[in-house]
Amino acid sequence: MSNETTERVHVLIIGSGPAGYTAAIYAARANMKPVLYQGIQPGGQLTITTEVENYPGFPDGVQGPEMMVHFEKQAARMGADIRYGLATKVDFSQQPYKVWIDDEKLIEADAVIICTGASAKWLGIESEQRLNGFGVSACAVCDGFFFRGKEVAIVGAGDTAAEEALYLSKLCSTVLMIVRRDQMRASKVMQDRVLNAPNIKVYWNSVTDEVLGEHKVEGVRIKNTQTNESVEVPISGFFVAIGHKPNSDIFQGWIDMDETGYIKTIPGTSKTNVEGVFAAGDVQDKNYRQAVTAAGSGCMAALDAERYLSAKGIV
Ligand code: NDP
Repeated sequence: MSNETTERVHVLIIGSGPAGYTAAIYAARANMKPVLYQGIQPGGQLTITTEVENYPGFPDGVQGPEMMVHFEKQAARMGADIRYGLATKVDFSQQPYKVWIDDEKLIEADAVIICTGASAKWLGIESEQRLNGFGVSACAVCDGFFFRGKEVAIVGAGDTAAEEALYLSKLCSTVLMIVRRDQMRASKVMQDRVLNAPNIKVYWNSVTDEVLGEHKVEGVRIKNTQTNESVEVPISGFFVAIGHKPNSDIFQGWIDMDETGYIKTIPGTSKTNVEGVFAAGDVQDKNYRQAVTAAGSGCMAALDAERYLSAKGIV
């Protein structure tokens, strides 16, 4: 016999970014007594950003971590039961749905709202993994401080890479930005800021051959894919900002997903292919991925869950 404990809830929310907390606020106000598990990064991706300027209601901007504290407090004040813990396994074969927390506690839920978000992607080269934590990082805002006054490199050409390159340019002496094409994906305004920063040097049509250094990052070998020429540049920090992967692995086989792991929802709703299981936020959104759209979809999921449970006479 296993000694796992079992608890029965109406609504289980997995994840604590803007989608999860907003779902919790709505579900708690609708008296559904939601239980929310925060996952390994309470507050989600916004806890590793700096200033958020585009979330409505904050005319002067707000720091990401501070905003997520507000989200959590609001959800708790409405009566959501917010807990630290990671969903490690699910069984959606029949009602009530089963979700295991930290491999030991079993939650049985009438409805599940998946808000597990997305995580940073890596290049996948050996030196990047070997030196991870020794100068290699996927979060400039978390780790940039360690490289004050030094030379660093960042890979990527989206809004995240642009934002992080600018952040680093304020701390570091020089920022090399390694861009694999001859153009950036980032929005025009961010590109302009990057190109106008005096200490950001863009390497176009370039890939990272290797991060150099035995025990810590000491340089990078950058290859120009047009000329096939490589250069070795001394750096102390190597940042990767090449997008994200949805955190949907534990739902594989239970829930329909696209080929990259984004959960499929019925357009205009938060419903998945499993009745009573809903998805919101970045785990089901590869297009918009904004705090405000995640929050909006968390609201949709709570309303969809409420309608589902009341149609079944559960709440
Ligand atoms: P994106 O998917 O938008 O961009 C990823 C970037 O990484 C692309 O430029 C891509 O190159 C590059 N890339 C991917 N794989 C590799 C690889 N193996 N080697 C080298 N380069 C690689 O991700 P972001 O995280 O930048 O942004 C995600 C979403 O969040 C976007 O919608 C963005 O607009 C939004 N966002 C908005 C912000 C804001 O408004 N303040 C801030 C940050 C993000 P390629 O272009 O060649 O495909």
